[in-house]
Amino acid sequence: MSAKIIDGKAIAARIKQQVAADVQQLTAAGKPVRLVAVLAGHAPVSRVYAENQARMCREVGVDYTLRELPAEVTQDHLEDLLRQLAADSTITGIMLHMPLPPQINSQQAQYAIDMLKDVEGVNPANIGHVVYGYSIIAPCTALAVVALVEETGATLRGAEITVVGASRIVGKPVALLLTERGATVTLCQIYTRDLVVHTRRADILIVAAGSPGLIEGRHVRPGAVVIDVGINRVAVPDATGKTVQKTVGDVNFNSVAPQASWLSPVPGGVGPMTVAMLLRNTVRAARLVYGLERPFGKPQG
Ligand code: NAD
Repeated sequence: MSAKIIDGKAIAARIKQQVAADVQQLTAAGKPVRLVAVLAGHAPVSRVYAENQARMCREVGVDYTLRELPAEVTQDHLEDLLRQLAADSTITGIMLHMPLPPQINSQQAQYAIDMLKDVEGVNPANIGHVVYGYSIIAPCTALAVVALVEETGATLRGAEITVVGASRIVGKPVALLLTERGATVTLCQIYTRDLVVHTRRADILIVAAGSPGLIEGRHVRPGAVVIDVGINRVAVPDATGKTVQKTVGDVNFNSVAPQASWLSPVPGGVGPMTVAMLLRNTVRAARLVYGLERPFGKPQG
């Protein structure tokens, strides 16, 4: 067997088109979609991300503004800004770039992001709402994983699903969203004894551990759907023997591809879908802010 590749880029492109149409409709109705991103400090990785985001927002018609704060910003100052953005009725979405400078308590800061405008779904209250099986706005990567699994056509009700990695922002919300869809979910973490016992019995295996190549063919039940969330930069030799940086997932692609029925690649799998879900959440936030949807009226995610 050789796995079919889940083309996250193509699926994300389709979602982006829908988002662009939604944004256009809202704008035409006098309800513009306005996202403000806050960047504290000068982490080069966040700057690149912010520039990509600005471009993508423009592509779908979202009005994007970047608010930059100095690296020495205080907790109070940052939270004041977030509260101003919450109170500003012309702003429909807010996001706060990570990592924050070391003097900032991230969870505390995320708590100051307006719950309805929280396009990344990182306000602890929004993460908590996932316990209900949906959220006002759910974390983007968790939504991306669920969407990719659904794209394969796999039956979720009654499925055995193993999630490797139990972070607040990926593993735990993914496990809860899939539980709500009727799956039997096993959530593994670094202290799990004998990981292979849990991964081998999964119809659907989701890996979000941040450990390059952790999952090999021997971990995978023949015919399983495998979703690789990991994004790891590793040093590898190029054709000339020079060391270069490469992005790899948590799944050893060549070892797992012969075993799986579906496999999401890195790059080109969960990554682009996370961005698509951020855009979709941005529309959802605008609809909530304009009162076109109710927070719990329509399950999301
Ligand atoms: P995290 O470090 O917060 O959590 C990692 C989790 O994996 C922990 O629960 C830990 O116990 C578990 N773990 C680590 N090594 C393990 C092992 N050997 N066996 C079993 N469990 C193990 O990480 P995170 O923020 O959830 O991110 C996980 C990975 O997903 C990272 O590579 C990150 O870059 C990537 N990520 C990708 C996207 C995306 O858009 N594609 C978004 C978020 C995170």
